[in-house]
Amino acid sequence: MKFGGTSVGKPERMHEVSRLVTKGDEPTIVVLSALSGTTNSLVSIGDSMSKGDKKQASQLIAKLEEHYKQFIQQLLSDKEMQAKANAIINEHFEFLNIILKISFNEALNKDILAQGELMSTKLFSLYLEEQKIDHALIPALEFMSIDSNEEPQIGTIKVKLKQLLEQHKGKKLFVTQGYICRNARGEVDNLKRGGSDYSASLIAAAINASVCEIWTDIDGMHNNDPRVVEKTVAIEQLSFDEAAELAYFGAKILHPASIWPAQMYKIPVRLLNTMQPQAKGTLITEEAGSQGIKAVAAKDGIIVVKVKSSRMLLAYGFLRKIFEVFEKYRTPIDMITTSEVAVSLTIDNGANLDEIVRELDPFGEVEVVKNQTIIAIVGNQMATSKHVLADMFKALSEVPIGMVSFGATPHNVSVLVPSDQKTKTLQLLNAGLFGL
Ligand code: ASP
Ligand code: MG
Repeated sequence: MKFGGTSVGKPERMHEVSRLVTKGDEPTIVVLSALSGTTNSLVSIGDSMSKGDKKQASQLIAKLEEHYKQFIQQLLSDKEMQAKANAIINEHFEFLNIILKISFNEALNKDILAQGELMSTKLFSLYLEEQKIDHALIPALEFMSIDSNEEPQIGTIKVKLKQLLEQHKGKKLFVTQGYICRNARGEVDNLKRGGSDYSASLIAAAINASVCEIWTDIDGMHNNDPRVVEKTVAIEQLSFDEAAELAYFGAKILHPASIWPAQMYKIPVRLLNTMQPQAKGTLITEEAGSQGIKAVAAKDGIIVVKVKSSRMLLAYGFLRKIFEVFEKYRTPIDMITTSEVAVSLTIDNGANLDEIVRELDPFGEVEVVKNQTIIAIVGNQMATSKHVLADMFKALSEVPIGMVSFGATPHNVSVLVPSDQKTKTLQLLNAGLFGL
């Protein structure tokens, strides 16, 4: 059971988590994020330090410490427990203040970022102790690891986690940190922002869990972006493939990387709502559950690169040369469309755009269009489901579509629109495809 930042972000939310994790009879591993807002603060603290602005860093540290001091007052009622919590908080903030005094580097930055999950789990463990709920705190830094390519080492994780669990024979409730891990050099590292979902999925895979529950503040994955369109509904069931497309193309509820471990080890994933625990949520399994369109999602900040070459006519090797340029600059391509004489592709990372354009120049006329949004329409057997494509294009007849990609998988049709058309596009699709 993984709980996100808002699910542990207030003392009363943490109390609710303790009720949720003690409801079932199955042995449970609880994976916690940092309290909401903490990782953002830690990022700012690290940024200030890297810029050499110690004053700002120290102010941010003090502000965050104050937040935790208040948090424990309401989390715990026993004076002795409060004193214990206070000692824990002091230790972590002393650490931050020591880092402030020494010369900053990237490894230290990772140490800073790890403080959030270390504190949230220790505080939750203290609350469980106060409630006399038997459990064990298992340090993620002792079993969660990534290799030199920053890929999690499931085999090692499995062995180490098993050993740790065996040290607590008879216990049924375990608490551990999401997000943090050790890297190939043995240093503290992390699974990138939002990575607690990934931790949960890796842990579920490693122990062959009966289910991986991701508890957040929304009742599952929705058919459309609730921040953009008025009426959305939770999706009851999704396949791993569909969920992966949605997570990648913008559904913020689930970290995109967290799909593969669950899919590979066939662990059902359930997205649930801490604020509304009775809601069904979304079940993600191998089976899609139903045919047709399930959801739409949008990914902003897309850049289109178009290369037009008269020499491409009947030529081979053209695409390879183009792709090699993107490979050289480690820039992943999202969408591709081709005609006989031109190719358009999209990227979401423009860090090396100038170099890329310069190197593409010899191959033809290069054009760059910024501020685009990919709208992904995700479902099951879309081509063979009646009317899907017709309904989609009908709904979008008013929208200037820049690119269309379909056919690579039966789960996705992607269209590219200017970002200022995103809201309208999502609204039109909500009406045209879901009747909402
Ligand atoms: N606390 C980390 C973050 O905010 C990891 C997570 O919450 O998933 O990114
Ligand atoms: Mg999250």
